[in-house]
Amino acid sequence: MKLFARAPGKVNLCLFLGPVRSDGRHEVVTLLESVSVADELSVAVAGAGTAVDEVLCAGVKGPNIVARALAGLREQGWDAPPVRVVIRKRVPLAGGMGGGSADAAAMLRLAAAIAPVPVAVAAELAASLGADVPSQLLPGVSIGTGAGEVVERLDAREGHAFVIVPQPYELSTAEVYREADRLGLPRDAADLSARHRELLSAVCSGAYLLGNDLEPAALSLRPDIGRALHTLRDSGADHAMVSGSGPTVFALCTGADAHARADTVAARLAARYPGATSAAPVGEEFGAPRGS
Ligand code: ATP
Repeated sequence: MKLFARAPGKVNLCLFLGPVRSDGRHEVVTLLESVSVADELSVAVAGAGTAVDEVLCAGVKGPNIVARALAGLREQGWDAPPVRVVIRKRVPLAGGMGGGSADAAAMLRLAAAIAPVPVAVAAELAASLGADVPSQLLPGVSIGTGAGEVVERLDAREGHAFVIVPQPYELSTAEVYREADRLGLPRDAADLSARHRELLSAVCSGAYLLGNDLEPAALSLRPDIGRALHTLRDSGADHAMVSGSGPTVFALCTGADAHARADTVAARLAARYPGATSAAPVGEEFGAPRGS
């Protein structure tokens, strides 16, 4: 049996940073949306000449989060023959688009298509793999709270498109959070609650609440991000921001001609930023496992 699934990256339309919790993670309030820039996972089950689970992922060194997902599934009694997983990376690596988390979430979807995985087991495993994995279990739009692992799914929204501009270097998420602390960026609990209420009311009224508290920290570590944001704004994008902990920058285009404008802006940037591309919001169906 061979299966395939896409693992879409995400952008954070807003990300508010709160105080550090007792487990050392920061509280956040964030609105995430999956986009059509996606990794691809192919899984061959049994008969593939492998006695143990195998994960091949060109470009990623060290232990792969998908191998950790498989080990977790086996520990929980996942009863499937050994699998061989090949991951094609398309989401910028360590780019603030949650590519690794998306891969792990896609693996959990694929696993459930091969042999039963109770929903509660998948949910628990997702949270243990990383704070961004639960929100990626089902691609789409969600609000993340806690350290990001408490997920409220929202209905998809039409009428917007993105320009995604990868940067030619990586940023460590942990380092960006440390820099945010150094700069005194985290809000107190009351302020974070107020931003949460503001976000909920914006969502109810169909407005976009945009902003990323981590952006000054990412800019402090890599000032070239500022140039990328200026270039994006000068190229005709409506709103340009850093995604998550960066360094990927993106623009949101709204209105009836959003997709055409995103295409135009991406084309203008392509010479200076290889990999710049327009992208569409995507939902559950986009990441669903299928036979290959
Ligand atoms: P986030 O937005 O969730 O903080 P990110 O987009 O900044 O994540 P990722 O691309 O998810 O960063 O990867 C962070 C690190 O995780 C990489 O530097 C890499 O060493 C490790 N990693 C392990 N497995 C994967 C994978 N399948 N894809 C990408 N990175 C992986």
